Amino acid sequence: MATSTDFARPANRAAQISAASQRPLNSQVHLAARQIHKVYRKSSVEIPVLRGVDLQIHCGEFLAIVGQSGSGKSTLLHLLGTLDAPTSGEVHFLGHRIDNLPAHARDRLRNEEFGMIFQFYHLLPELSTLENVLMPLMIQQGFWKYWTNRGKNVAAAKELLEKVGLSHRLKHRPRELSGGEMQRAAIARALISKPQVLLADEPTGNLDQSTGAEIMQILRTLNRTENLSIIMVTHDNSIASQADRIVRLAAGKVEGVA
Ligand code: ADP
Ligand code: MG
Repeated sequence: MATSTDFARPANRAAQISAASQRPLNSQVHLAARQIHKVYRKSSVEIPVLRGVDLQIHCGEFLAIVGQSGSGKSTLLHLLGTLDAPTSGEVHFLGHRIDNLPAHARDRLRNEEFGMIFQFYHLLPELSTLENVLMPLMIQQGFWKYWTNRGKNVAAAKELLEKVGLSHRLKHRPRELSGGEMQRAAIARALISKPQVLLADEPTGNLDQSTGAEIMQILRTLNRTENLSIIMVTHDNSIASQADRIVRLAAGKVEGVA
């Protein structure tokens, strides 16, 4: 049975930087989709969405997946993050197959190694910014461990909120935050468990251009300084162009974009 320790962290990207290279990527494949098919079934109707997706993301890479609305971008992201299972095909994380793990191992892997952010933030409305960021630790550690570690947990959450420029909004509820601030809080929440991979579903889709650019700057910085692999889906080509590499999802398959 796989545990988190099976998924040893790749070497820090700093160790990968060669003097000649502008692209300090670790050549290790972080996450891979192999011949992924996804068919949704509604009553007796079959809706084929993904028709043989092959995709690899390397450690420390920032990949953008573009495609029209309805092309299956969110579906693919959910499959990569083990939130859903493919109809056929495989998902591999650091060379281990993960789509067929038992539910508890999959949940644990997802909680520890994947962070997720969404277009509409999905913050809990009754909790403050700080509490929203702490929530994954409360769930992971359980009541007693969380309370024993509370000082450390709060310090880690505050440090992350500082990093995303939100330390002046710790006690605000989501409704008291702007869209950009809510996405900053969601980024901090996604990173509190120190994941290796960030999956971002239209993270700027609900933001104006300049706020979207600020969020992209945060993601870019996290990618460069924290060795965070990022897979971002977007329908916005100018947002996608800020990634290291762009692939397009069309007719249920992935094609490279020059
Ligand atoms: P995108 O994120 O690119 O807009 P989605 O992955 O959300 O696309 O959806 C792709 C297609 O799959 C759409 O036609 C959508 O209606 C359909 N779809 C998505 N989720 C489901 C579901 N749970 N059941 C049935 N059809 C779905
Ligand atoms: Mg979508």
